[in-house]
Amino acid sequence: MARNTGPSCKLCRREKTKLFLKGERCITDRCSFERRSYPPGEHGRRRVKESDYLLQIREKQKARRVYGIMERQFRKYYKQALREKGRTGENLLRILESRLDNVLYRSGFAVSRKQARQLISHGHFTVNGRKVDIPSYQVKPQDVIAVKESSRNLDVIKGAVQGYQREPVPWLEVDKKNISASVLDRPAGEGLDISIRDEMIVELYSR
Ligand code: SF4
Repeated sequence: MARNTGPSCKLCRREKTKLFLKGERCITDRCSFERRSYPPGEHGRRRVKESDYLLQIREKQKARRVYGIMERQFRKYYKQALREKGRTGENLLRILESRLDNVLYRSGFAVSRKQARQLISHGHFTVNGRKVDIPSYQVKPQDVIAVKESSRNLDVIKGAVQGYQREPVPWLEVDKKNISASVLDRPAGEGLDISIRDEMIVELYSR
């Protein structure tokens, strides 16, 4: 599985916003972006003329980085969103939100989507009672995501569950005590990441 192995904080600085890629550190004063909120590199502080095209690229890169997805997979999601009924940008965000790694993160069972991917790949979670080790697995309404019985006492999972409380999303019902979550509905409206301007990504790919 291809993935980004570079420093996460540089990605926030590149996108000029906090992407929350490192769990609790992101909400403390150890966050690099709080200290250096300009892009990395020798010319990071130089003013760059931001054309529409550049802004569209940056928005697409931001979405990719928030969800930790490589370009090829992201484009596949876009094509899938295009085929579905409704607004393409919203479809795209819904597909991204429905990934199993995102569901674990949103439920508070992992401190970051990166950690969620690792926990899933190592087979610590089940969907409807069956082990699923594919982070990109798409959940659907009525699915129940739960920790495997033998993994319940792993420090990394207990630490995430007891740590920073994330904002709940309306399409998920989370049972922290049993480390399980039920998908109530398809992610939409408030349940989507509204910090991502999906229309700019659609404009970019429609060029
Ligand atoms: Fe981004 Fe700050 Fe988290 Fe680093 S610590 S990933 S800069 S939000």
